[in-house]
Amino acid sequence: MGACTSCMVTFIENPKNLTIIIGSLLIALVLFIVLVRKALSTKQKLAVIYAHIFFLVFPVIYYFFFRGCQSFFSQCEKTKAVFIMVLLTALLASVLVSVIAPFLFLNKYIRKSKVATLGNAGAIVNFVSKYSKKLSIKTPKVYILDSQKPEAFSFNLFKSKIFISLGMVELLSKKELHAVLLHELGHIKNNSSVLKFSFMLFKRFSPLAMFGSNRIANQLDEHECNADSVVLEYQKKAKHLVNAKMKVEEFEKFD
Ligand SMILES: [Zn+2]
Repeated sequence: MGACTSCMVTFIENPKNLTIIIGSLLIALVLFIVLVRKALSTKQKLAVIYAHIFFLVFPVIYYFFFRGCQSFFSQCEKTKAVFIMVLLTALLASVLVSVIAPFLFLNKYIRKSKVATLGNAGAIVNFVSKYSKKLSIKTPKVYILDSQKPEAFSFNLFKSKIFISLGMVELLSKKELHAVLLHELGHIKNNSSVLKFSFMLFKRFSPLAMFGSNRIANQLDEHECNADSVVLEYQKKAKHLVNAKMKVEEFEKFD
């Protein structure tokens, strides 16, 4: 224990190490401010979220390799060392964000779902495939979630997926179900399902997220409106979407 503490002290006493760590955290902070304050496109927001996570993770990687006592790179060239660390951080951050988190999140839902096919949910499959073509997106796989709670959401990090619960299918009329499916297709089209997911990760991983939660909620509302506008484009009226939302709210009241 004693040796460990003295390693840490040696590490921190080196002004170069301290500058790199504080610098990295400052960049993370600036990116956070950009994320909550600036009007950015969906792609820019995604880039900023991941860059923010990168600069939060980087000091940990850096510390791991440059701890005072057993400096991993003491024999190597400096540039090579930095290059390897940046690569490692990027790798770690992207594994964290794109593999582990979706795996933990999605697997839970996939295990509780059945893939919708022409045999078991033909109407839904046909509808989704028809409107994916109209929206020029790849047809997402639809999962029927075995749950009585009415819920629907989408995900599009690698392949796009729409989840809709049995409870939702039973609760809604045909037109209302179409409105919900169009809304989810809208998220996929605007890339906002992956953004919603990234915001969720950001909230879990970033200690700064709690300071910007109101603004983040506003940004997410904006993406909900964009998804709704896809419903309006094809249904020409908001009635079915509004009814669907009301029914889900009613259900939650009595649940
Ligand atoms: Zn939505």
